[in-house]
Amino acid sequence: MVDCSFLGCGRQAEFKGLCSAHYRQRKKGKSLTPIRALQYTHAPTCSKCDKPYYSRGFCEYHYKKRWSKRKTLENLKETRNGKK
Ligand SMILES: [Zn+2]
Ligand SMILES: [Zn+2]
Repeated sequence: MVDCSFLGCGRQAEFKGLCSAHYRQRKKGKSLTPIRALQYTHAPTCSKCDKPYYSRGFCEYHYKKRWSKRKTLENLKETRNGKK
């Protein structure tokens, strides 16, 4: 497997050392430009911090925090109802 010879492209070369997108650019006689649409966007992160995405828009820490909060609220309800 060969990488595209365009610096920083990182795509697999398919034609003459270039990826298909850059090969098309060269064919058109244009100067090669980075293929923006094909660059990977960075992995999603938590909506409250910069930690890696875990679930429901949160990182593992904030997700579990949210859930434990909900749990304790449910527990409070139960104990209240039970005590009455
Ligand atoms: Zn390329
Ligand atoms: Zn977070």
